[in-house]
Amino acid sequence: MRPHVVIVGGGFGGLATARELANVDVDVTLLDRRNHHLFQPLLYQVATAALSPSDIAYPIRAALSSQKNARVLLAEVRRIDPVGRRIELDDGELTYDYLVVATGATHSYFGKDWAHLAPGLKSIEDATEIRRRVFLAYEAAERETDPERQKEWLTFVVVGGGPTGVELAGALGEIGLHTLAHDFRKIDPTNVHVVLFEGGDRVLSSYPAKLSEAARQQLERRRVEVRLNAVVSEIDERGVIAGGERVGARTVLWAAGVKASPLGADLGAPLDRAGRVIVTPELSVPGHPEIFVIGDLAKMDHPDGGQVPGVAQGAIQGGKHVARIIAGEPRTPFRYHDKGNMATIGRASAIVATKRFSLSGVVAWMLWWVVHIFFLVGFRNRALMMLHWGWSWLTFRRGSRLITGATGALPAIHSATLVQRAPMPRAQETRASSLGN
Ligand SMILES: Cc1cc2nc3c(=O)[nH]c(=O)nc-3n(C[C@H](O)[C@H](O)[C@H](O)COP(=O)(O)OP(=O)(O)OC[C@H]3O[C@@H](n4cnc5c(N)ncnc54)[C@H](O)[C@@H]3O)c2cc1C
Repeated sequence: MRPHVVIVGGGFGGLATARELANVDVDVTLLDRRNHHLFQPLLYQVATAALSPSDIAYPIRAALSSQKNARVLLAEVRRIDPVGRRIELDDGELTYDYLVVATGATHSYFGKDWAHLAPGLKSIEDATEIRRRVFLAYEAAERETDPERQKEWLTFVVVGGGPTGVELAGALGEIGLHTLAHDFRKIDPTNVHVVLFEGGDRVLSSYPAKLSEAARQQLERRRVEVRLNAVVSEIDERGVIAGGERVGARTVLWAAGVKASPLGADLGAPLDRAGRVIVTPELSVPGHPEIFVIGDLAKMDHPDGGQVPGVAQGAIQGGKHVARIIAGEPRTPFRYHDKGNMATIGRASAIVATKRFSLSGVVAWMLWWVVHIFFLVGFRNRALMMLHWGWSWLTFRRGSRLITGATGALPAIHSATLVQRAPMPRAQETRASSLGN
C-alpha cells in the first residue's frame, strides 16, 4: 500500500506540491472546489477587460494529466478531522496518510457587511462581477441626463492601496483616458474620476518608500486621485465616507483586507489574527507531523526572522518543501528564497523591488511582463495572453469588455438621453492619448 497524500487546493501551493511528488512512490489526490488553477496576479486584467478569464485560468486536471500517480477531484472540503485522519467533502469523505492544506485566503471586510457594495478580487467570478459593474457604470453614465448623477456613475472608488488596489486603480484610470475615450457620445472622458483610498501614509507599504512615491506619481499621471491616511468608515450604494468626507460613487471596489480560508480552524492549531495557521518551522501542524499547511493559509516564520509573505512564490516554495518531506527527506525548517516583488500601475509602468535593486517605469514593466508570462500555467494561456496583450498595447483597446450577468436598473432612456456632449477639444484629446506611453 502506498501512502495516500491528499492535497486540498489547486492554487499555487497545492499544484506545486502535487508536481513535486510526481516521481515519489505515493498516491496523490488533489481536491479543489473549482476545476481551474487561477493565476491571481493577473486577475485585475480580467476585471478591467484586458484579458479573458480563460487566459489566466487553466484546468487543474490538464495541468496534472501526465502525472500518473495523481488524480484530481472537483470537490469542496467542508471539514477536516485531524484525529481520525479524515476529511469531509460536500458529498462524501476521504482518509489520508498525509494531508496538505493549501486553501488560501479570502476577503476580509473587518466585520462590516460591505461585500455586496464593494466586491473584492479573488476569483474569476469576482473579476467578471467587477468588470460588469465598471462597464455598466459607463452605460448608465451615457444615459444619465443629470450632471451630478452622471458624475457619480463616472467616479470609481478603490479601497486599499496595496498591489491589488494600485493595479485596479491604474487600470481604471486608463480605461477612462484611453479605452472608452471615443466610444460614448455623452461622456467626457476627462470627467472620469478614480479615487484610491489608503489608510496608511503611502501606497504599496511593503515596498521601499521611493517606489511607493513613484507608484503614487504614476497613478496620478493616470488621473487617479490618491488619498492617503484616509480610512473608509461607511459604504453605501451611492458612495463612501472616508476621513469624515463623503465621495459620491456608484462603483466601489475592495482591496483592503484578506483573511485565511476557514478550513484552518479545523486543524486544532493556533491561529493568528487573520485566521492563518501558525505552523512549525517545517510547515506542519503542531502535534500532527502528517498534516502540512502552506501558502496564504499558513503563518510561516523565516528561520532568520520575519515572515514569509503571502505571495505566489511563498506558496510554491512551501509546497515543494513539504513534498520533499513527504518523499522522505529530513524535516528541515522551510527557508523562503525571496526573489523580489513587483506590481504594475498601468501601460508601460510598474515597480520592482529585489534585495539587490529597485526599479520603476518602463524597464520594470517589461520585467513584470516577462515574469508573468513565464509563470503562467499552460502553453495555450501564454500564447493567448501575449497575443491579447500585444493587441491591447498597439490599439489601446481592451478586447474583453463584456457585461455579463444582470444589467440592473439603468437610468431611463428619453429624448434628452440623445443630446451629445460637445466634442472633446483637440488638445485635451491628445493629452489623454499620450498618457501612459
Ligand atoms: C488579485 C490578486 C493579485 C495578486 N498578485 C500577486 C502578485 O502579483 N504576485 C504574487 O506573488 N502574488 C500575488 N497574489 C497573491 C498570490 O496569488 C497568493 O499568495 C497565492 O495564490 C497563494 O497560493 P495558495 O496556494 O496558498 O492559495 P490559492 O492560490 O488562493 O489557492 C487556493 C485554492 O484552494 C481552493 N479551495 C479553497 N477552499 C477550498 C475548499 N474548502 N475545498 C476545496 N478547495 C478549496 C481554491 O479554489 C483555490 O484553487 C495576488 C493575489 C490576488 C488575490
